[in-house]
Amino acid sequence: MAKYDYDLFVIGAGSGGVRAGRLAAMSGAKVALAEEHRVGGTCVIRGCVPKKFMVYASEFAHNAQIAEGYGWSPSQATFDWPRFLEAKDREIARLSGIYVTNLNNAGAEILHGKARLTDAHTIVVEGKQTITADKVLIATGGRPWKPTEFPGAEHIITSEEAFQLPELPKSIMIAGGGYIAVEFAGIFAGLGVETTLVYRGANILRGFDDDVRSHVTEEMKKRGVKVVLGCQHDSIEKTEAGGFISHMTSGHAIETELVMFATGRRPYVDGLGLETAGVKLNDVGAVAVDKFSKTNVENIWAVGDVTDRINLTPVAIREGAAFAQTEFYGNPTTFDHDMVASAVFSQPPVGSVGLSEADARHQHGKVDIYLSRFRPMKTTFYGGDERCLIKLVVEAGSERILGCHVVGPDSPEIIQMAAVALKMGVTKPQWDSTCAVHPTLAEELVTMREKYVPLGTAA
Ligand code: NDP
Repeated sequence: MAKYDYDLFVIGAGSGGVRAGRLAAMSGAKVALAEEHRVGGTCVIRGCVPKKFMVYASEFAHNAQIAEGYGWSPSQATFDWPRFLEAKDREIARLSGIYVTNLNNAGAEILHGKARLTDAHTIVVEGKQTITADKVLIATGGRPWKPTEFPGAEHIITSEEAFQLPELPKSIMIAGGGYIAVEFAGIFAGLGVETTLVYRGANILRGFDDDVRSHVTEEMKKRGVKVVLGCQHDSIEKTEAGGFISHMTSGHAIETELVMFATGRRPYVDGLGLETAGVKLNDVGAVAVDKFSKTNVENIWAVGDVTDRINLTPVAIREGAAFAQTEFYGNPTTFDHDMVASAVFSQPPVGSVGLSEADARHQHGKVDIYLSRFRPMKTTFYGGDERCLIKLVVEAGSERILGCHVVGPDSPEIIQMAAVALKMGVTKPQWDSTCAVHPTLAEELVTMREKYVPLGTAA
C-alpha cells in the first residue's frame, strides 16, 4: 500500500500550480490540487486575461478618433459596461473550464477549498478532508496590498473589485505607479472615465528605463489621464453624494467617485500552515526557495508569485514546469530568470527586455545608447500627436545589446521577438545585419546607426 494518498499535492490552481500539477500527472504520478477560488488563478480570473479584454474594450474610443482621419464618419457607438462584463465573465469561465479539462485529462484531481498544512506531509482541505502527500507544491500566488492606516482607507478598492464594478464611475483616482495602476489608468480613461493617477515618487514605472517612464507619462497625459506626482494620501473623506475626497500630502484635495489603490501585491501565505510545516519565509514574507524552487523542508516546493522572484505568469509556468521536470521526469531543471521580457499594457503599451540605461551603466560601466522618438505613419496620416520610443542599451566594447525598450502600438508583440535575440547574447552589428521589414514601426529597431547624445552633452 502507498505510504501517502498522493505523490504530489499542489496548493493553488493558478498558472504555476496547474502547469506543475498537469505535467506531474502526465508522468503517471497521483496528483491532487486544491483551489479555494476558481481554477486559473489570478492571471485568468482577475488579472492578465480580463485586464487585456478591458484594454481592448477601452481602445475603441481612441480608434474611432483615428478612424475619422482615415475617412470614416463619426458613428454613434456607445459603450455598455454590463454587456462587456457579461461577455468577459463568459470568456473567463470558458478559459477556466479549459484548465479544469486539461487537469482532468491528465488524471489530476481538483479539490475545492482552502488547504492548510498540518505537517510537512499532511494537508487539511476546507477544515474537514485530511490528505497525505509525498511532495507538496505551494503555488498560492499573491494578493493586492492596500494601506489601512489612514482615515478613510476602508473606502479603497483594488484591482479585484475593479474587474467587477456594477457600473462605471464618472471619475476615478488611482494611487500607485506600477504595472496595475498605469494599465487601469489607461483602461478607465479610454472608457471615458475622468482619471487621475497619483504616484508618490518623481516618475511612474520605477524599475523601467527612465526614458520609457517619462515617455509613457507624457503619452498618458495626451490620452487624458491626469498624472499627479510626488504625493500620497493623508486621508479619504466620503461625500454626501457618495463620492470621495482624497486629501493629499501636498495639501491638494481631489474629489472622485472611486478611489482605487494599485500599490503592489503580497505573497499569499495566510492560513497555509507554513509555520506548522516548518517552511521558512524570506524577509519580504515570500516563501524562500532555492534555484530548484525547493523550500527548506525536504518535500515542499513553491513556485510563482508566492516566492516573489519575478511576478509574471510565464515565469510561474516555467518554474512549475522546471519543478515537474526535476521531480517527476528525472531531469533536473532550473528556470533562468535572466532576460525575461515584460509588457505594460498602458496606452500606449511598453515592451521591455534586459537592463535600463541606468542599471546598465551601474553594472557594466560604459554603454552606448541608440534612441529614436517618432510619430508612426498611422499617426502622421490622421494628424495625431502620439509618439513612439525605441531604445537600445549597448555595452561599449563588446557591443552586446543589454536592453531593448519600446513604447508604442504592438510593442508587447515586438519585444517577444527582441527577447529571443537578447537572450542569445546578440551584438549590435549582428542586430543591424538583420534587414528591416517595411513599412513597420519595428523596422526602426534595426536602422538606428547613430549613437544617441543627449542635447547639451555633445563635446
Ligand atoms: P508594482 O510593484 O508594480 O507597483 C506598486 C506601486 O505602488 C509602485 O508604484 C509603488 O511605489 C506604489 N506603492 C507601494 N506602496 C505604496 C504606498 N504605501 N503608498 C503609495 N504608493 C505605494 O505593483 P502592482 O500592484 O502594479 O503590480 C503587482 C505585480 O503584478 C507587478 O509587480 C507585476 O509583477 C505583476 N503585474 C504584471 C503585469 C504585466 O505583466 N503586464 C500587469 C499587472 C501586474 P514605488 O515605486 O515608490 O515603490
